Amino acid sequence: MSNTFNVTLPSGATWTPTFVTSLAQEKCIGCGRCFKVCSRGVLELVGLNADGDYVRVDDEDDEDDEYEKKVMTIAHQELCIGCTACAKICPKKCYTHAPAAV
Ligand code: SF4
Ligand code: SF4
Repeated sequence: MSNTFNVTLPSGATWTPTFVTSLAQEKCIGCGRCFKVCSRGVLELVGLNADGDYVRVDDEDDEDDEYEKKVMTIAHQELCIGCTACAKICPKKCYTHAPAAV
């Protein structure tokens, strides 16, 4: 499709990256697997407090009850290269990816 961003690989094959578009936080268990496989610094683990606000997660302060659970966020979507590693590793199928329009 001419209106979809794609890449021509050295082999001559065409590859259409699918970029991260959303993350279903209600399903996320905060396991951090996706964070570990993302090589691009797109994702960030944060705390979710009782009011539904994000709070910073500080490992040394883990005893603090400032947040109710940890969830992953898409902090820098613009850095995503569309590899889908995060979606493949996620045990809860939280991710949605889509090609980019150009
Ligand atoms: S698709 Fe790849 S680059 Fe994009 S957020 Fe997921 S792991 Fe990171
Ligand atoms: S792998 Fe899935 S469940 Fe685990 S932190 Fe990432 S989005 Fe959440």
